[in-house]
Amino acid sequence: MPASRRVTRAVNEVLDLAPKQGEVSLTRLVDAVGANRGRSIEITMADLPPGVCGQWRQFADHDVFLIQKGLPAWDRTLAHELGHLVLGHEGIPVVQAARENTEMASSELIGYMLNQRTGCMGPSGEDAEQEAEDFAALLIYRLGRLPSDRASIVQVRLGEAFG
Ligand SMILES: [Zn+2]
Repeated sequence: MPASRRVTRAVNEVLDLAPKQGEVSLTRLVDAVGANRGRSIEITMADLPPGVCGQWRQFADHDVFLIQKGLPAWDRTLAHELGHLVLGHEGIPVVQAARENTEMASSELIGYMLNQRTGCMGPSGEDAEQEAEDFAALLIYRLGRLPSDRASIVQVRLGEAFG
């Protein structure tokens, strides 16, 4: 399915923020988006509830992307969470998420907004999920087409992302 204009525009805006020098990796793009928003974005590996690949947690002054430990396509999940962020998909209060998902109830309940993806594969059917998927697919495709000295996504640096 072709990405919507809204998604295409969001991908263009993110790529416009790419550092002008050196390698453009997904994690560097995430940093650049955070700098542009004036809210730092932290990437953390975590043990998430079963079936959850990634979570976007919105704190008062920064954002955190949690990525399921050991996920083979974690870059895709990271791009997906970034999609939610740049597309302005609002999270829901954690307490509400806990009510709807007993797995969450055991997590510490603190004051942040949560945008949680359940299901690692494919669209969930919700518009926001589809949009984030389209964003992730297009961003990764475009990163892969950068000149090879500036790419990118394939040689993801785990140390850079999670060190
Ligand atoms: Zn999602």
